[in-house]
Amino acid sequence: MPELNDYQNFIANAFVPSEQLIDVHNPANAKLLGRVPQASHDQVEAAIAAARQAQKAWAARPAIERAGYLRAIATKVRDNAERLAHIITAEQGKVLGLARVEVNFTADYLDYMAEWARRLEGEVLTSDRVGESIFLLRKPLGVVAGVLPWNFPFFLIARKMAPALITGNTIVIKPSEETPINCFEFARLVAETDLPAGVFNVVSGTGATVGHSLTSHAGVDLISFTGSVDTGSRIMAAAAPNITKLNLELGGKAPAIVLADADLDLAAKAITASRIINTGQVCNCAERVYVQRKVADSFIEQIAASMAATRYGDPLAEQDLDMGPLINQAALDKVARMVKTATGQGAQVITGGAVADKGQGFHYQPTVLAGCNSDMEIMREEIFGPVLPIQIVEDLDEAIALANASEYGLTSSLYTRSLSAAMQASNRLDFGETYINRENFEAMQGFHAGTRKSGIGGADGKHGLYEYTHTHVVYIQI
Ligand code: NAD
Repeated sequence: MPELNDYQNFIANAFVPSEQLIDVHNPANAKLLGRVPQASHDQVEAAIAAARQAQKAWAARPAIERAGYLRAIATKVRDNAERLAHIITAEQGKVLGLARVEVNFTADYLDYMAEWARRLEGEVLTSDRVGESIFLLRKPLGVVAGVLPWNFPFFLIARKMAPALITGNTIVIKPSEETPINCFEFARLVAETDLPAGVFNVVSGTGATVGHSLTSHAGVDLISFTGSVDTGSRIMAAAAPNITKLNLELGGKAPAIVLADADLDLAAKAITASRIINTGQVCNCAERVYVQRKVADSFIEQIAASMAATRYGDPLAEQDLDMGPLINQAALDKVARMVKTATGQGAQVITGGAVADKGQGFHYQPTVLAGCNSDMEIMREEIFGPVLPIQIVEDLDEAIALANASEYGLTSSLYTRSLSAAMQASNRLDFGETYINRENFEAMQGFHAGTRKSGIGGADGKHGLYEYTHTHVVYIQI
């Protein structure tokens, strides 16, 4: 791990210090890792102005030139992969293997979005008039504000920056105050390339200050936000006076449905993987299980065994772990409170069920709760921790009805050997994504988007890319 460091805002390719600093700690052992700026209002203004100043010239470059910068940054990320993975693990608490996946995925994502340079297309439409041509042009929006969560902090930089830049926008990023260091390390790599000043900027600070200044600013053309439903709702209100376009990737409460004809071994392994990855702190993670009565006992036994086998602890101090700590004390308290409430309402702890005794880190035991029902908070609210509540259902119809009866609609999954059940579920599950017979993890060429309170718009692939553009239709009569 690099030495303790103070970081500075990155505005117009210059590192700009703030008077106020925020401490950043390692969630596995509470050690101070570094300090980052609490950007002032003027610094947020300066970052937006720099992005505005740079945008027209950036958009005027051929897309293939813009792609070259993304590729150069991807190369820098790969060259520094191991160091970056250690920083992400220290700051966020995910295991090193997953941090390495995050770094490589980030580099691949930058390259993937760069590939769109020669594929960005408009349309030529048929006119009702003689001698008229109608062209649909796709144009950049202008300045994007990217507000990031802490759970995949490094990848989320690329998920917002790469589609923004390849389509000719410029961007101001605000990392989460929990995990800003990796973002400034990314900015350092950007500074080593010759990316024009103002195209990519980073300001850090709390949500209520820097986040609010950015998202209520009239000089921002698109707010691309990933985070909780509550914050998403606050950002909508902040954006309302300016009618700023929004792209919101919010929370989830992903149902996993296990039917009687499922490969139970596969289902138990895949649902465990989906629940312990990043310590259950993933928007698309399996958050609630509906198992068909006929196989409920054997499935609960299998999943309890696989959850109990999870190796967890301090990811930089111990080898070969599956899971690290939760992000902070508040997250640990929330998970513990939700489990306590569920058991008070009749849920039975099959394995886990308590805060883990692991020094100063925020560790919770991998937990399986049986006997849950849809009135319980634990089946309705996002847990964001390594806890699997299980409810028994009679059939697919009941499972789909319960799955859909949620405020969230991000991802869902189904385990079955029946093609008919798989097709029925695909048609009737009201979610942005459904995974059949596999763990929940999206592909960069897909489209990650949720229904209901899980968001507005989406990310990745062609459809995610075009969220960063507006259409301009031109009618030419000659
Ligand atoms: P959060 O909403 O607490 O914070 C996210 C970001 O918003 C942070 O940078 C924070 O500083 C900022 N923020 C807070 N208040 C703000 C305000 N008033 N104005 C502007 N910005 C503000 O979320 P989190 O705890 O960092 O992340 C966890 C949540 O993110 C979970 O609900 C998870 O499901 C969701 N998430 C969703 C996706 C997705 O793709 N749908 C991906 C990852 C995480």
